[in-house]
Amino acid sequence: MKADPTNADPTNADRAEIERLNAVAADGAEALLGALVERHGRAVKLASSLGAEDQVLSHMLLGIDPRASIFVLDTGRLHQETYDLMARMMSRYRMHYEVLFPSAGAVQEMVRDAGPNLFYASVEDRHRCCGVRKVEPLRRALGGAAAWITGLRRAQSPDRSGTPFVEWDDGHGAIKANPLADWPDDQVWDYLRAHRVPYNVLHDRGFVSIGCAPCTRAIAPGEDPRAGRWWWEQDTAKECGLHVSANVV
Ligand code: SF4
Repeated sequence: MKADPTNADPTNADRAEIERLNAVAADGAEALLGALVERHGRAVKLASSLGAEDQVLSHMLLGIDPRASIFVLDTGRLHQETYDLMARMMSRYRMHYEVLFPSAGAVQEMVRDAGPNLFYASVEDRHRCCGVRKVEPLRRALGGAAAWITGLRRAQSPDRSGTPFVEWDDGHGAIKANPLADWPDDQVWDYLRAHRVPYNVLHDRGFVSIGCAPCTRAIAPGEDPRAGRWWWEQDTAKECGLHVSANVV
């Protein structure tokens, strides 16, 4: 079952597969990843922002298939620490990321129109930047994918409290799997330490959710985990458009 953006509705086979995978997820994240790889091979792609959850999933997935498909959306505005971690991962696991860059022409036009820091001007400008630098490259990354894997967890924010293990992503016409959906924060960090998985050093400096450098800050203890993303915005959903279109099947 390959993604078909021209027909975003799930087929009966997609629905059956989602039901099967949700049942497998009861046996844990690795069981779900194993079932995805077994059925869909490298038509399953892990979306990695190099955050803590993605590091857990990368370690698990590369243990199942050392050549697994893991992609990174390089917006051009990432932290140096994130690039450092990419390099460390490539060395430690002898792996390669599929790196997606935004359209040079679209970035050039946007920056000419609205300047390099347009995201601070308005929510609309921020969405425009995320659209050019993240959403469109994600669409390219998922072209032909049967399923994609994310590090979404219910504990990350109220908006994510209903995250299922497996759902249908109608925006991309593909299965979307969230193997860590029920993991609390401690479980993520216990896993990283137990398996000595490299992680972004920004986490040690109070960054919980790591995105682009100009749009991410550290948070204080007890602050909402998503408070460090687009912190200047009030009363808006703290999402970049990558995870807003999925529907639960
Ligand atoms: S997070 Fe900020 S810099 Fe990154 S794509 Fe979105 S608005 Fe642009």
